[in-house]
Amino acid sequence: MMTTVFDVQQYRKDFPALSQKVYGKPLVYLDNAATAQKPQCVIDTLDRYYSAENANIHRGIHYLSQKATDAFDEARDKVARFINAKESREIIFVRGATEGINLVAQSYVRPLLKPGDEILITWMEHHSNIVPWQMVAEQTGAKLKVTPINDAGELILPEFEKLLSEKTKLVSVTHISNALGTINPVKKIIQMAHALSVPVLVDGAQSVPHQAVDVQDLDADFFVFSGHKLFGPTGIGVVYGKAEHLEKMPPYQGGGDMISAVTFEKTLYNKIPYKFEAGTPHIAGVIGLGSAIDYVSAIGMSRISAYEHELLEYGTRALSKIPGLRLIGTAKEKASILSFVLEAAHPHDIGTILDQEGVAIRAGHHCAMPVMERFGVPATVRASFAFYNTHEDIDALVRAINKVFEVFR
Ligand SMILES: *Cc1c(COP(=O)(O)O)cnc(C)c1O
Repeated sequence: MMTTVFDVQQYRKDFPALSQKVYGKPLVYLDNAATAQKPQCVIDTLDRYYSAENANIHRGIHYLSQKATDAFDEARDKVARFINAKESREIIFVRGATEGINLVAQSYVRPLLKPGDEILITWMEHHSNIVPWQMVAEQTGAKLKVTPINDAGELILPEFEKLLSEKTKLVSVTHISNALGTINPVKKIIQMAHALSVPVLVDGAQSVPHQAVDVQDLDADFFVFSGHKLFGPTGIGVVYGKAEHLEKMPPYQGGGDMISAVTFEKTLYNKIPYKFEAGTPHIAGVIGLGSAIDYVSAIGMSRISAYEHELLEYGTRALSKIPGLRLIGTAKEKASILSFVLEAAHPHDIGTILDQEGVAIRAGHHCAMPVMERFGVPATVRASFAFYNTHEDIDALVRAINKVFEVFR
């Protein structure tokens, strides 16, 4: 039971994209794991920045530049508070979770690796938490190890423990699987890894939009996420790293802003976080992300997770009644993602029929091909909810799936 009323209809009004029609039918947006819609306050922030406040930061002495710099720095403080980082300088702005993982792979892990060393990931990772490690392994002669998952889509922790060793130089694990919805016990995983002094990166792309995150409580060494899945702009993301790690790491890219002095003989690098932010950053994106964080914080992340949990239970019950529907990902701890296949039709055909009904879902491998292979399917249909989705949206999904049976009889 909710303690306070979660006024979803009120929140929906904040998202202009949600009130449109597609093919003459009300849009039912259930593709939030791919990207989330933006509230008006984020749109207004971007508009205001470009209409009245546009200037480069950290260099101008004029009024607008100072204003933009203040807004930029303030957004960094907001991010730090949002995930409870100890200090704002532990927050680095990048393009998204993908770039964040590549930064850690190249600047932190690569210098540590020698042939025979290992990087330990899991079977349910997004491609962006697989490929950067394969690349760094290829560059250094290190090996990639993979923790298996069970038939429910949960990590097999005893297997994880067996794979952990003094050869492991980093564990990288997703907080929540974008393909299955599984919520991983990352705090426990971090404890197990730290017992062997192995640092851990948490891919938080799917967790920050759905639950409160406290990087100090988790004791994560690195935590990455993307702004666009958190109701913010595209092209902006965050790497959190413990200051002790960031200070030791070489820069990821060279250029302006990341230096403190340049001569042709030698360049002195700037302090963190600037050392990792070469060039003009995505200023509007950073300020827009700050606005998105203000927005969800005002609603409250714990209220958002409680509401979404209820949606997930309602959706699971509704889909389980559909004959021939197989849910892929039935973990005990799950976020609001329902991945499924139908005996009657291929996921892409289902996606096309659902689209005609105004229901936006994703059909495919969800950038997690090893997960598809593990469950013996080429693809799934994935409905992923945000806090602005409703029981009616789920009813519309079920009605649209019933149309599939009319076509593929
Ligand atoms: C979306 C996603 C990513 C990649 O995020 P980008 O915004 O595309 O960089 C990484 N991991 C997970 C779990 C995701 O869902």
